[in-house]
Amino acid sequence: TAEELRELLLSRIRDVADYPQPGVMFKDITPLLADPDAFRALTGALVEECRRSGATKIVGLEARGFILAAPVAVAAGIGFVPVRKAGKLPGATLSQGYDLEYGTAEIEVHAEDLAEGDRVAVIDDVLATGGTAEAAVELIRRAGAEVAGVSVLMELGFLDGRARLEKVLRGAPLTAL
Ligand code: AMP
Repeated sequence: TAEELRELLLSRIRDVADYPQPGVMFKDITPLLADPDAFRALTGALVEECRRSGATKIVGLEARGFILAAPVAVAAGIGFVPVRKAGKLPGATLSQGYDLEYGTAEIEVHAEDLAEGDRVAVIDDVLATGGTAEAAVELIRRAGAEVAGVSVLMELGFLDGRARLEKVLRGAPLTAL
């Protein structure tokens, strides 16, 4: 059941206080990745979300989003597209800047990896403020593609990333497992 999945996943996420800086409770997914049953269950649930949304491409957000999105793309039989931090992709890119608590960041995608007609499922580990996922949504649209949905392992409810992201999702689903 969904409740059993939730319990399993929660039991494999480690809270690390004050990492990478004081005041942050870091959600460490490495225990989950090291448990093949939990990792398989997570992958299966994400594949299900992608099928439901009719996705034709999967975008993973660097870096932990890559780990989750790649097996989903293989299992679902659709292509994987990396959205990377600026300066890491060798080809022609589209870039999208966004604000962080202190400073700014930039993400990029290879322009040729997304096209009009694509329906894109976005996958990441943690939704915090929603800034990263929001920038990914903008990037996908600027490439001419449509956002089928955003799926994350977990959302940090107190940061209200969901409200921020839903404003730009145009009704596409945001799922936190
Ligand atoms: P945000 O843009 O604020 O939603 O931050 C999301 C990105 O930062 C994701 O790619 C997460 O991997 C990472 N992140 C933010 N907060 C945490 C946290 N408390 N634990 C683990 N990862 C986090």
